[in-house]
Amino acid sequence: GSNIGILGGGQLGRMIVIAGRNMGYRFNTLDPTPDSPCGQVADRQLLAPFSDVNAAKELADLSDVITYEFENVDSDVASILETTSYVPQGSGLLKITQNRIREKTTLQSFGVPVAPFKVIETEKDIYSATERLGLPCIMKTATGGYDGKGQWVIRSKDNINVAIEAWNKSGMDMIIEQFIPFSKELSVIVARNVQGQTKTFPAAENVHINNILHQSIVPARITNEQTIQAETIALKIAESLQVVGLIAIEMFLTNDGKIIVNELAPRPHNSGHYSMDACITSQFEQHIRAICGLPLGDTTLLSPIIMVNILGQHVSKVLDKIDQLPPTAKIHLYGKKESVENRKMGHINFLGATLEQVNQQINDLQIWT
Ligand code: ATP
Ligand code: MG
Ligand code: MG
Repeated sequence: GSNIGILGGGQLGRMIVIAGRNMGYRFNTLDPTPDSPCGQVADRQLLAPFSDVNAAKELADLSDVITYEFENVDSDVASILETTSYVPQGSGLLKITQNRIREKTTLQSFGVPVAPFKVIETEKDIYSATERLGLPCIMKTATGGYDGKGQWVIRSKDNINVAIEAWNKSGMDMIIEQFIPFSKELSVIVARNVQGQTKTFPAAENVHINNILHQSIVPARITNEQTIQAETIALKIAESLQVVGLIAIEMFLTNDGKIIVNELAPRPHNSGHYSMDACITSQFEQHIRAICGLPLGDTTLLSPIIMVNILGQHVSKVLDKIDQLPPTAKIHLYGKKESVENRKMGHINFLGATLEQVNQQINDLQIWT
C-alpha cells in the first residue's frame, strides 16, 4: 500500500512527507494544531489530540502504514492501533524512549555506558543522590522534556534547595544524573528496516546553545577510532531494541575519549537534517524505506556540511540577509506562523569544500552572533 499515516504534525512529519511524495507515497497526519507544518504538505490533517482513540483509528483507516514523528504521542493509543493496523516501529520503543528511567535502565541492560544516575522518589533521595553522584549534577524530569526543558543543573548547596522546590512543585518523576564533562557531543542515526537490515548515517558533531541544538558539523572532528566506536554503540542499540525505522543516539565524547550515551529519539532527528543536502539518501527517505520494507539507501556523505538551526529570534535576520547566502547554502523553513523565541522555525545547510570554509561563510553572515 502507499498511504502512510503520521502521528504528529511537526516539522519532522513535514520533511517525511516531502521526501515520501517523491517516492509516490501519500500522507495523512494527526495533530491538534490547525495547519501544522506537516498538515500543510499532507493530503489531509485530522485535527485531534493524540489521546483521541477515535481520531487515531480514523487515521489508521486511511493508512496502510502508521508511523510517528515524535516520541510523546500517546503510547497507549499506539498500542491500540497496533492490534488492528500496521505500526512497524511498534509501541514498545515509544514506551522506553518516553521515559528516561526506562531508557537508561534499558541501555544499561545492553551494557551501553550512560551517565550514572539515581531515580528520585522522595525529597531525601535528592540529598543522597547529589552526595553519591557528586556536584555538579543535573535533575531531569523522566518524561516530556525537550530542548533542556524540565532540567535543573545542581552546582551548589543552594541549587539543591531549588531542585527540591521544583521536585515538590511539579509532582513528576525525576532522575538526577552525573554531569559529564564532555569534549564533544555527537549523534549517530541508525536505520533498521522491517527485514532487519541496518545502516548508520555519518556521525554528527553537535553544538548546543542554551540546551538547544545550534549546529551539526559533519564529518564530526573526531578520530577514525572514535567514529567506529560511536557507530558500533549506535548499531548495538538499534539491534538490541529491534528498531524498525530510525533511532537517533545522542552521545557525549568525554575528555578521555570515552563515549557515553545521553539519550535516544526513535525518529528522524534535528542533528540528521544535514543528510537532506549532503547524503545520497536523507534520513527522511531512509525512514520511509525502513518502515515500508524497502532496501535501505546509501548514506555516503557527499560534502562537508554544517547545519545551523533557525530559531524564532533568527528569522528576521535570515530574511534580511537572504540574498547574501552563499549559492551552496540550502534553506529549509517549516511553515510555522509565529516566530516565538527559541522555537525551531527552520534550518540552513551550508555546504563547502572544507569545514573551515563553511564555518567562515556562516561567521561572515553574522546571523547567529
Ligand atoms: P533534546 O531537545 O535533545 O531532546 P532534552 O531536553 O531531552 O534535549 P538532554 O539531551 O538530556 O535534554 O540535555 C540537553 C543538553 O544538556 C545536552 O545536549 C547537553 O548539552 C546537556 N546535558 C544534558 N545532560 C548532561 C550531562 N549529564 N552532562 C553534561 N551535559 C549534559
Ligand atoms: Mg530529549
Ligand atoms: Mg538531547
